[in-house]
Amino acid sequence: MSAPLIVIGNGMAAAKFCEELANQGLGRYSVAVIGAEPHLAYNRVLLSSLLAGEVTAGDIELRNRDWWQARGVTLIYGRPALSIDTERNRVNLADGSSLGFSKLVLATGSHPIRLPIPGMELPGVMTFRERADVDALLAAAKPGTRAIVIGGGLLGLEAATGVAAAGARTTVIHLMDRLMERQLDPRAGALLKQAVEARGIEVLLGASTAAIEGQESAEGRRVAGLRLSDGRLLPADLVIVACGVRPNADLARAAGLDCNRGVMVDDGLATSHADIHAIGECAEHRGQVYGLVEPAYDHARVLARCLAGRAAAYEGSITATNLKVSGVHVFSAGDFTGGAGTQDIVLSDPGIGLYRRLILRQDGQGTRLIGAVLFGDTADGLFYLDLIRSGRDIGAQRADLAFGPTFMTDFDTAEAA
Ligand SMILES: Cc1cc2nc3c(=O)[nH]c(=O)nc-3n(C[C@H](O)[C@H](O)[C@H](O)COP(=O)(O)OP(=O)(O)OC[C@H]3O[C@@H](n4cnc5c(N)ncnc54)[C@H](O)[C@@H]3O)c2cc1C
Repeated sequence: MSAPLIVIGNGMAAAKFCEELANQGLGRYSVAVIGAEPHLAYNRVLLSSLLAGEVTAGDIELRNRDWWQARGVTLIYGRPALSIDTERNRVNLADGSSLGFSKLVLATGSHPIRLPIPGMELPGVMTFRERADVDALLAAAKPGTRAIVIGGGLLGLEAATGVAAAGARTTVIHLMDRLMERQLDPRAGALLKQAVEARGIEVLLGASTAAIEGQESAEGRRVAGLRLSDGRLLPADLVIVACGVRPNADLARAAGLDCNRGVMVDDGLATSHADIHAIGECAEHRGQVYGLVEPAYDHARVLARCLAGRAAAYEGSITATNLKVSGVHVFSAGDFTGGAGTQDIVLSDPGIGLYRRLILRQDGQGTRLIGAVLFGDTADGLFYLDLIRSGRDIGAQRADLAFGPTFMTDFDTAEAA
């Protein structure tokens, strides 16, 4: 008889894990997935495209009902798991039912961060994480609506572009001195600001939010503006908070599992309880939590192998970021901070909005690419990412490196992958 395996969370990591487990160990477990959202798992990354009206809700579904059924997965969605009984290996659901497990996988993702300032709870203050958020944002963002997005990172810019496309007069407030500072260097950040402003979106850098202000309306008290720390009041009908995420370790913490920022896992994605694992954004591995999908997929692959009885270990992920704003091409991967022991190759043509910076480290073992920032033309992004991941010596190709694989003679690009 197959052993009961429960996955809590029906997001991207969970769907990938079920797929990998079905490929590697079908029949070994009887799998049930518990999801709080009332939908089949969908591609969360494409919520930005859904908000921008570029795709439909149907387009972003990861797998249809038949796919799940064919793999024998029981889907329980629209019902959150409430607690884990670690003594009896049971999960308690919000409707009072409970399920036993031999293995439990936590894939509960992240919570959007809400700022500890007055007014956060006012109607009209929203976040951008779930399908329901897209519906709420589209209902609120109409032509003439004044929208303010707090946060000039990837999520904030994609939210701003989406509500601006719906007709809202949009301003992005960003605390730092450049947009996407965690992924872009100052020059790429400046080009990005120009491109965002060219879409009619106002960008305020170095601006810190002191409070969200409300006022009485026919529907009760709701958001009316955003007060900056310098005293300025910016009128707003809609405020979108996009200041990052925090791992959702709520269930694990309440169950007494070791947690730091996320649920702490070892190289086999096991938590401090031998039968409980954690993957995706809720997991913390070697002190690192990720807010991107590729590490979540890496976790899912490794855990599926482990649970299928094969040898596998997760050792961390090198991440890359792609901004999904149509017509604005931005790619960043690896370490772009530079500094001692590194060298930069820069190719730049501000006239056509092109910028490419490659960061190299040279040591006794050769020359390796450790980071890449591309603006304008990102077609070679994945090639550079593969080179970073492979750690391959590119000393002999360095003169041609900035021009991409097409111009790199005597270089077997297949080896980079
Ligand atoms: C708008 C947007 C754009 C993004 N763009 C990119 C991008 O370009 N590139 C990139 O790499 N990443 C991007 N991301 C991040 C990416 O979506 C996440 O990294 C990925 O979804 C993580 O997968 P996960 O399964 O860990 O979490 P999630 O996909 O968030 O899934 C977690 C699920 O668990 C459910 N859950 C939580 N608690 C419970 C409970 N108690 N019971 C039952 N279910 C529960 C949640 O409701 C949720 O459905 C983006 C995210 C957003 C919101």
